[in-house]
Parts: sequence; structure tokens; C-alpha cells
Amino acid sequence: MKIQAALAFASNGPLSIETVDMAEPGPLQIQVKLVATGLCHTDLNVLANPAMPWPVLFGHEGAGVVEKVGSQVSKVAVGDHVIMTTSSCGKCPSCLSANPSYCTRFRELNMSGGKTCEGGCTHQHDAKPVFAGFLGQSSFASHLLTSERNVIKVDADLPLDVLAPLGCGIQTGAGAVLNTLQPHPGSSLVVFGAGGVGLAALMAAKIAGCGQRIVVDKVQSRLALAEELGATHVIDAGSADVMAAINEITGGGADYSVEATGIPAVMEQAIAALGIGGSVVLVGIAGAQASVSFNPTIVQSKKIKIQGSIMAGAGGVPDLFIPKLIGYWKAGLLPVEKLIRYYPFDQINQAIHDAHDGSAIKPVLRLP
Ligand SMILES: [Zn+2]
Ligand SMILES: [Zn+2]
Repeated sequence: MKIQAALAFASNGPLSIETVDMAEPGPLQIQVKLVATGLCHTDLNVLANPAMPWPVLFGHEGAGVVEKVGSQVSKVAVGDHVIMTTSSCGKCPSCLSANPSYCTRFRELNMSGGKTCEGGCTHQHDAKPVFAGFLGQSSFASHLLTSERNVIKVDADLPLDVLAPLGCGIQTGAGAVLNTLQPHPGSSLVVFGAGGVGLAALMAAKIAGCGQRIVVDKVQSRLALAEELGATHVIDAGSADVMAAINEITGGGADYSVEATGIPAVMEQAIAALGIGGSVVLVGIAGAQASVSFNPTIVQSKKIKIQGSIMAGAGGVPDLFIPKLIGYWKAGLLPVEKLIRYYPFDQINQAIHDAHDGSAIKPVLRLP
């Protein structure tokens, strides 16, 4: 079928909305008509990678309505409202131990470019292959192909343009706290970076009952939003001595820290901010070449735990976790809409611009 898709033709180039041919769903595939899609920093990080086989169709926070299902699909039916997350195999040791975010076939399933079993590709532009199936979706389009393990059915009365970012950014921040860190009530937790992931971590820290919820960022408007979302303390990294401020608030170091900037120097701060027995979770994406240094004696003597987290986090299963997050949203505990700025689909380049300069925390594109 013919779809409208925002293609990237070059590294860091503008996206261009083009007519693209998309294959019919295979036996295990699901065709979704998009209603909304979030824009995530991972889209921008990969858009900046010159080694990608252009053109590429990005987007991985899609939400929409099931339009067609393959003959072997039983999880959803035509007309169901769904949000989507990344793909996993369901059969590897990670998937079988309730850790699908760490599927051993993650790269193959999420970054193969939309190859079909027959060796062709699902998307073509001017009879040339398009790298699609990005993170199991390629949601910057009117329609996409996905599979059962990517979709989470949601009630038809819920606003898909609010729930779309639950598939990646919100799930990642909340999963890092609620599933990976699991902070105890009354504890102190510092979030470094008040973007979409960091603010989702903050909301999760409040849900978990953390007593001191400290947010560090350089942008005043983000710190103000953090206070509105439940930060008990905010620290302006542009003017304050961050470590001294954290030590003073927590009385010698935090119980938990969440690193959501992806900047190695900030990761080092997130480790240094911990007190005795503290745990840090690294969530921000620093890139394949990055490295972080820490003092092993301090890590040993303070019994510090350093962990990573992606997507739903440790022991997080999107099919269970995303409905839980929707429950928090309904109860007013996860006000995702306060992070969102909406754009019509044809303003996608403006959304990218505003995500880059930080003026939009979570851009969401509405499809016509
Ligand atoms: Zn797997
Ligand atoms: Zn993402």
C-alpha cells in the first residue's frame, strides 16, 4: 500500500514527507494506522550516524489503531487501539526470565531495516529500499508494520496522543526507577537531566515514595517543571556546586541516582553523588565510543552499585508494565501531558529542532 512517511535521506538532514510503498502484513505482522508518535532522542542519535543506509524511516513511540493483522496474529484484532514498544524474541534466556528489554536478539529484531523473509524489504521509495522497522516500528508515517510482541492494547477511550511516549521515553525513565532501582520509601534520589526520561524517573520516584527527590539540570524552565512534578529540591548545574548541594541536602550522599543526560562527566557525578550503599542507574545514551572513569576505592568503601537500564528495565515486561503506567496516569501520578508539546506531522522538522535545542521536552506528532 501507499503510505506517507517522513524519510531521512542523509545524516542530520531534514526529513521529507514522501509517498512510500509498504508491504502487506506477513502472517505474524500487524498493520497499524498511526494516530500519534513521540519523538525520542534515540531517533536523533541514529539520525546523526553517517553510517546508516539512507534513506531511513525513524520513529519508535507510535500509537494508533490496528488496521490489518496477519493470519497467525491472535493478540490484537482490527480496530484495537495500541501503543508500541521495541521488539523482542520471546524465546531467549532474557525474554524467558521476564527481561525482554535485554533480548539477546535486540539488535537483529530492532535494527535489521525491515528485511522480509524472502530477502526483500518492507518499505520502498521510488523502487529503492528504505531502512524501516526501526526499533520494531518506524512510526514517522501514516501506517507501520509491527508484530505481536511490540503492541500493547489499550482501552479505546484513552488518548493515544498522550500515551504514545509510554512506549519508549516514559517507560525508560519510570522503568529505571520502579523496576531497576526499586528505591525504598523515604529514601533520597537524585535525577541528573530533566528531559523526558529524567522527568519520568522523577515522577516514578514520587510514586515509589522517595522522600528527597532532587533534580539537577542547567535549564531553569526544566527545573521549574521538575518542581511542579514533585521535585523536593532542584539544583542549577550551571551555577551551583552540584556535589556540595547534594551532600548538604542528603547529609552525605544520596541513596539513589539516575543519570539521564548520557554525558560521561555527568555519569561520573551521578556515581560521586551517592552515599554509603548507594545505587546509580545509567539511562542516558552516551554512544559507543564513550567511557566513564570512577575511583574504585570509593566504590568499594561505599559499597556502591552501578547499574544500567533500558526500556522497561530489570524484570520489566512492557505487556505488564505499560498498563501499570497507564494506571498511574489515570490516577494523576504520571502526568505525561505536562512534558508534551504537540506538532502536526508535517511540522516534524520543527519538532526535531525544538528537541535539539531543548525547548520541547517530549515532542509528539499528530498524524492527519
Ligand atoms: Zn529474546
Ligand atoms: Zn526512544
